[in-house]
Amino acid sequence: MTRLILATRNAAKVIELRAILADAGLTHELVGTDAYPDVPDVKETGVTFAENALLKAHAMARATGLPAIADDSGICVDVLGGAPGIFSARWAGRHGDDQANLDLLLGQLADIAEEHRGAHFACAAALALPDGTERVVEGRLRGVLRYAPVGDGGFGYDPILQPDGEGRTCAELTASEKNAISHRGQAFRGLVSAVRDLID
Ligand code: IMP
Repeated sequence: MTRLILATRNAAKVIELRAILADAGLTHELVGTDAYPDVPDVKETGVTFAENALLKAHAMARATGLPAIADDSGICVDVLGGAPGIFSARWAGRHGDDQANLDLLLGQLADIAEEHRGAHFACAAALALPDGTERVVEGRLRGVLRYAPVGDGGFGYDPILQPDGEGRTCAELTASEKNAISHRGQAFRGLVSAVRDLID
């Protein structure tokens, strides 16, 4: 069985991606970056989700000599011209402070009317092989932003994004309900055929 590296140190993401990829029928052994502690973190110098996902996947593939997959994701708000976008994880300044990021975004949008609160989650999923071969697939989840957080599930901006056609926020969906419609689910399901074509 081919070992496939998931280029992330985020344990929650490894669990989520394992579930999405297993549901899509992928039988490869999926190993997170933590199994390779000596591989240095990659600077996300790209200006698009796709560029950053490819940077991470190529760095892991080069360092391990194994096929690697990576993603980059965020929230894009219509009235902010697509921001926070690639800056979603550090919108309030400190990388990964989900609560501060969410509070800042809600404050910025406090006076924006319902009909102008459209936004989407975006994800680029990338596959890189040690020989430099690459594939990237993008997914989106459209919705509207609530005025206050609702729900205990998920992470990041989940409590404020209500997907189109849903009465609940992403933080009120079960993990499998969210995976079925999410930007990350779409992107990684799309990447599975590339994994099959290039690795098997
Ligand atoms: P990264 O892809 O790990 O760099 O994450 C980017 C940031 O986007 C995260 O810190 C979250 O704040 C946000 N984000 C990405 N995907 C989701 C999601 O599914 N729900 C909520 N927030 C998300």
